Amino acid sequence: MKVIVLGAGINGTTCALKIKEKYPDYDVTLLGAQFSPNTTGDGSGGLWYPYFCGKTPEALIRKWGIETYGQLLYLWRQGGYGISLQPVYAMYRDGTHSAPEWTNHVFGYVELDSKQLEYFNKLFSVQYVAGNTFNTFVVNPSTLLKRLEQQLDELKVTRKQGSVKSLTDSMLRHYDVIINCTGLGAREVVPDDKVHPIRGQILKVDAPWVFYTIQDKCSGHYIIPNDTFCVLGGTGQANNYSTEVNNDDTDFIERGCHNLIPSLKTANIQKYFVGLRPARDEVRAEAERINGKLYIHNYGHGGSGFTLFWGCGSTVLELFEKHVAINNTSKL
Ligand SMILES: Cc1cc2nc3c(=O)[nH]c(=O)nc-3n(C[C@H](O)[C@H](O)[C@H](O)COP(=O)(O)OP(=O)(O)OC[C@H]3O[C@@H](n4cnc5c(N)ncnc54)[C@H](O)[C@@H]3O)c2cc1C
Repeated sequence: MKVIVLGAGINGTTCALKIKEKYPDYDVTLLGAQFSPNTTGDGSGGLWYPYFCGKTPEALIRKWGIETYGQLLYLWRQGGYGISLQPVYAMYRDGTHSAPEWTNHVFGYVELDSKQLEYFNKLFSVQYVAGNTFNTFVVNPSTLLKRLEQQLDELKVTRKQGSVKSLTDSMLRHYDVIINCTGLGAREVVPDDKVHPIRGQILKVDAPWVFYTIQDKCSGHYIIPNDTFCVLGGTGQANNYSTEVNNDDTDFIERGCHNLIPSLKTANIQKYFVGLRPARDEVRAEAERINGKLYIHNYGHGGSGFTLFWGCGSTVLELFEKHVAINNTSKL
């Protein structure tokens, strides 16, 4: 059986790994226009927190997200994957939010009480009326991607740089199964006009004195420290394809994040980054047949690629196993 996974971001890399681990005799290729450190995920905050998932049903966010949370716990215990465990504070300037279902499954989720809010309001000089906290994982994306790529190499998955124009590209004719994890590329490759960018600009700074993540859910600012740098964000501009750093966005990010943690004014800036979150009205993880060939789609993760990747990879593997079982039965 010859399998090709299109897209070498966190989702494609995970799918190639899961399939090859389960079926070591199959010929698995990972094809990507870009590999780490040049995928969208390399510039992401790496925070486990469902964000910009469109109308993906809450039950699926819980299923994929909590399986991924469990895998991050497993990898964090192993060490060496660039994963840190830390509290996240989500703060609101209005009181209209409700707790989604996944909050029942993460460690230590609580709504902040009035004393805690009072403390934060003095600390941050912003008047929040509600907030919550739990313990979550922050991935250093390039470290995790490199480790997964090493595992692919050890398992003898072929990694190739290249692009396809469509799902029926002649380059794909020798493969039995095509797994489509092309992110924003799915807009042209499928084609699927529900796929669109949500532009994210961030700053990476050195701030080893920051030990927790904070998100202002109303202004959109966030501060996410990982094991080597701290991400200050950010923008979420739908249908904006610009990958240029915008000075107004930089001012917006700096002003908002410095307001939250004033000591960040002294932090050395490592890098400005702009990435296009591969968004869709909902994550697409499903199989279809085109001209008798099996295609399994796994794209549209928006701002949650590092929050859903392992769970979505399991769904892809289940769909793949179903196909293999049907194939084997038809040969009897
Ligand atoms: C600023 C910013 C901050 C973020 N912060 C977080 C966060 O804190 N937590 C979180 O969970 N998520 C976050 N995200 C979102 C996360 O980065 C994405 O959801 C994730 O990277 C999507 O992974 P992917 O593998 O589906 O797509 P991508 O990483 O975009 O990878 C797509 C792959 O497909 C390849 N490809 C595309 N078209 C073709 C083609 N025609 N032929 C061959 N290959 C092709 C690309 O080259 C690439 O290899 C953030 C994103 C941004 C931009």
